[in-house]
Amino acid sequence: LDVVEEEEETDKQERPRASTTRNIVFVSSEAAPYSKTGGLGDVCGSLPIAFAARGHRVMVVSPRYLNGVSDKKFVNATDVGVRIKIYCFGVETEVAFFHEFRAGVDWVFVDHPSYHRPGNPYGDSHGAFADNQFRFTLLSYAACEAPLVLPLGGYTYGEKCLFLVNDWHASLVSVLIAAKYRPHGVYNDARSILVIHNLAHQGIAPASTYGNLGLPSEWYGALEWIFPPWSRMHALDNGEVVNFLKGAVVTSDRIMTVSQGYSWEITTVEGGQGLNELLSCRKFALNGVVNGIDVDEWNPASDKHIPFHYSVDDLSGKAQCKAALQTELGLPVRDDCPLIGFIGRLDYQKGTDVISSAMPELLQDDVQFVMLGSGDQQTENWMRWAESAYKEKFRGWVGFNVPVSHRITAGCDILLMPSRFEPCGLNQLYAMRYGTVPVVNCTGGLKDTVENFDPFANDGTEQGTGWRFSPLCKESMLSILRVAMQTFREHKVSWEGIMKRGMMKDFTWDSSASQYEEIFDWAFTDPP
Ligand code: ADP
Repeated sequence: LDVVEEEEETDKQERPRASTTRNIVFVSSEAAPYSKTGGLGDVCGSLPIAFAARGHRVMVVSPRYLNGVSDKKFVNATDVGVRIKIYCFGVETEVAFFHEFRAGVDWVFVDHPSYHRPGNPYGDSHGAFADNQFRFTLLSYAACEAPLVLPLGGYTYGEKCLFLVNDWHASLVSVLIAAKYRPHGVYNDARSILVIHNLAHQGIAPASTYGNLGLPSEWYGALEWIFPPWSRMHALDNGEVVNFLKGAVVTSDRIMTVSQGYSWEITTVEGGQGLNELLSCRKFALNGVVNGIDVDEWNPASDKHIPFHYSVDDLSGKAQCKAALQTELGLPVRDDCPLIGFIGRLDYQKGTDVISSAMPELLQDDVQFVMLGSGDQQTENWMRWAESAYKEKFRGWVGFNVPVSHRITAGCDILLMPSRFEPCGLNQLYAMRYGTVPVVNCTGGLKDTVENFDPFANDGTEQGTGWRFSPLCKESMLSILRVAMQTFREHKVSWEGIMKRGMMKDFTWDSSASQYEEIFDWAFTDPP
């Protein structure tokens, strides 16, 4: 027992701590495991825990979604007993706060009937919810009040806090601080940092909705946005809209993205989604830090979702995971046949159209392919069709299923990510940790995190953790996949080297968290 205690003590001492600890308030529409539709949920579920472990006091404010299917995830969150009234959309709305203290973090859930409905956080099978602007305006107002009114663990966070405003759903927080709090002397010692996980979603609505937001009329310019003529949103109020994300771009103290590569790409015409000029103007406040991953949830040595466990020292469990996945999918169980996987939202961003157009040629090879995803109807239908057309080689799993995503990550040899743009991308990080070799389009965070396989590196040794291809088109994707498959079949030692180098990469949050802290320090050096 003594020895164990000593080890724990050493562990505590070695764990990196922040040099300056802060009160950090994450505001996000998703936080795993409570809610998740993509990487935003993963990041806001794991980065807060990493910050807490480094000594910060951390709160995450997110809606209390009750959809009738996963309500049990909120079962440990109890009513704090605090009610606030928010005036917006022409009415006074009361919201409540629920709270769970877990893994060193205050998980705060804003409660209102508009968060209680079937579907995911943003919509259901009929599309996006019509009142999303209201739902996320409410979230932002409630998040601004939370540090002031919630006596968590006996005392409030207070005014001197750091808001991490994630994507458009939380963007109004920065605008509210600038327009409603600071003019009254509140939050002058606070800072807000916009974290852009995906610039493609900006929270756009007709200009006429500005009056609903409860903001002073003179602040209209902060949210005002004129769409360029080529845009399909042009029809709204003659192209004039309110743009929540743009509001945060101009009012946040700092702006961050989830990789260095993406922080540069969004200042270009190609990657800026219409905001490139504005972001270029603020480039001195803009930075990028690549995401980490939850290495406990994604650990091939202990993952509760996979049938066999393995590590870099003993890969035999991976081969068993592959055979089990092939059995589960009803594919021929063959270790010599490369099994390629895709996991993700079925969306133009993810390049699923490039996958479907390449499939007839790809499947002429001796290969198996499994796709997990939901989203675009046409792609979902294509997956169902392809499954019956290529019975021996293709499986399409339509849906959002976390355990299946783990089994595919563990069981495949190759993970394909032909994303058109990718702010960071998490699946390639999970893949590398599981010895599954990523083949990715050379963009954004994929470019930053996957090192191209080089059999003739300078010092005579092999290097690299996967393959990057460019440009994004069927031909270049197929040719690099053929190189990867040939390496898999004919160069076992090299293949194992690629797998192991990926598995040994450090994807823990610690190095990212310390880079975040430098940006926090920098934000607090300037007056708001
Ligand atoms: P994005 O945030 O653009 O969707 P990321 O790669 O950053 O992409 O993160 C996606 C996250 O969502 C990963 O954790 C991935 O495993 C998960 N995911 C995406 N689609 C599915 C699905 N159909 N089933 C289960 N998990 C999924």
